[in-house]
Amino acid sequence: MKFGFDIDDTLINLREYAFHLYNKKLKQDVSLDVFNELKTLEIHEAFGLSKEEGNKLWNSLLEEIYYSSCPPFPHAVETLQELDRQGHEIYYITARVKEHGERTMKWLKGNDFPIQEDHFYYGMDDTEKVHVIEKLGLDYYFDDKPAVLETLSNLKLQVFAKDTSYNRHLKIPRITSWLELNQIIKGGGRI
Ligand SMILES: [Mg+2]
Repeated sequence: MKFGFDIDDTLINLREYAFHLYNKKLKQDVSLDVFNELKTLEIHEAFGLSKEEGNKLWNSLLEEIYYSSCPPFPHAVETLQELDRQGHEIYYITARVKEHGERTMKWLKGNDFPIQEDHFYYGMDDTEKVHVIEKLGLDYYFDDKPAVLETLSNLKLQVFAKDTSYNRHLKIPRITSWLELNQIIKGGGRI
C-alpha cells in the first residue's frame, strides 16, 4: 500500500521543540500546559508576541528549529521502518519551501526515517498538497494541519489527523500515537 506523511508536527515534534527554543531565547518559562492548550498552529501567543513578532522570531530560529535536534514523535521512525520492511511505499509531502527540501530530506535520513528520494515532495502551498496526494494515488495520508486536512475530504483515501490541540475540532479519524498505525492497517482504516 501507499502511505503519505506530512513531516512537521506529524512525524516530528517541531512546534514543541520550537516552544522550548522560544522560552530559552526570550528568557521566559512558559509552561508546557499553555502549549498543550494552544488552539493555533503558531505558538507566538503563548509568549505574548504579535503575529509579526512571532514570524520574525520563527524565521530567526528557523535553522535551529529545522536542523538541530528536533525529536521525531515516539515510535514514528520505528513505525515507518516497519512499513518499509513490509514492502509498503512511503511518501513524504511537506510544505517546507524549496530551499529547504534537500536538506530536510538529508536530515530525515540522518534520523533514520526510510527515504526513497523520488518519494519526497516539498515546496508547495498547503492548498496544493491535495493535488500531489491525488496524483500519487495514496491509500493513507497523515497530516496535522486543518488547512490541509480540510482540502482532502473528497479524495478516495484514508485521511488521518495527527492529534493536536489545534485540530481537535475536525471530525475526521485521528491518530494519537504512531503505535496505533498497525491497528489502523489491520482494521482496514478504522480504529
Ligand atoms: Mg505539519
